[in-house]
Amino acid sequence: MNFIKVRAHGKINLGLDIVRKREDGYHDVRMIMQTVGIFDGISINRRPSKSSEITVSTNLKFLPTDGNNLAVKAARVLMDEFNITDNIDISIKKMIPVSAGMAGGSADCAAIFRGLNKMYDLGLTNEDLKKRGVRLGADVPYCIEEGTFLSEGIGDILTMLPPMPDCGIILVKPHVNISTKFVYEHMNVGAIKKHPDIDGMVGALLKGDIYGITNRMSNVMELFTAAEYPVIEEIKAKLMDLGALNSIMSGSGSTVFAIFDDPERCKNAYNVMKQSGLGRQVYITEPYNII
Ligand code: ATP
Repeated sequence: MNFIKVRAHGKINLGLDIVRKREDGYHDVRMIMQTVGIFDGISINRRPSKSSEITVSTNLKFLPTDGNNLAVKAARVLMDEFNITDNIDISIKKMIPVSAGMAGGSADCAAIFRGLNKMYDLGLTNEDLKKRGVRLGADVPYCIEEGTFLSEGIGDILTMLPPMPDCGIILVKPHVNISTKFVYEHMNVGAIKKHPDIDGMVGALLKGDIYGITNRMSNVMELFTAAEYPVIEEIKAKLMDLGALNSIMSGSGSTVFAIFDDPERCKNAYNVMKQSGLGRQVYITEPYNII
């Protein structure tokens, strides 16, 4: 095949704990990851050639279109390893908020891996792709899997969990961008006194207990970001007023999400948040699991 379309889904963190800072500078984490319905639409086109060039175009002017685009980095890994000399044109319709704690770049990497694996019949398993993906980013192995997972280590030790029960999800990305690297560099891990009940949340997922899940939603990175970016607390408070079961920041932010058990309240919250001006991007979505 000369052309393929793939979807790169975003994620939220239902729970995020930092266990410790390691000697190598990375952090050991315990996170509950959930894929959501929002995705980047990616198309890959191959043109016979001997020069192995990669072009990328996107609907967002500020994203890099050179070798710094994570989709290009991912394509380069497989093209180099498998001596693919065709030219590859990648087009990304970016819907996942950028620098927003939703693993948009990692999702694009994973989608490019899946797409090229199929296009060139490389026969790589998910395990093969995950080994290559972790070198591009700690969330890439999870994005290759997609679904509901407990993520440990630096994000590369994954345990599959039952899908989150049906619910409505509102995502609000405020006008601030937050770099994951910046938050990790400024987080004082010693200052974390209350750790999220990740094991309790795993138990609630196993039981399919939506309230057991939402009651335990917590993200230790808010310790740092709430003080720096007051809009995050403002959005959370508004979503709670609108009837959310709970609302927290996803990953290192700045996206805030809220879970609803009532579809009407969820729709109303979406409309109110869209008009509030608090979000640059506001989405209504749901958990995404391939079953
Ligand atoms: P995470 O949740 O994994 O921490 P994030 O949401 O904080 O991710 P991304 O949206 O993945 O961050 O983007 C981080 C940086 O990567 C941005 O500075 C962006 O310009 C750059 N970038 C390069 N390629 C891409 C891409 N294909 N999609 C998104 N960002 C990209």
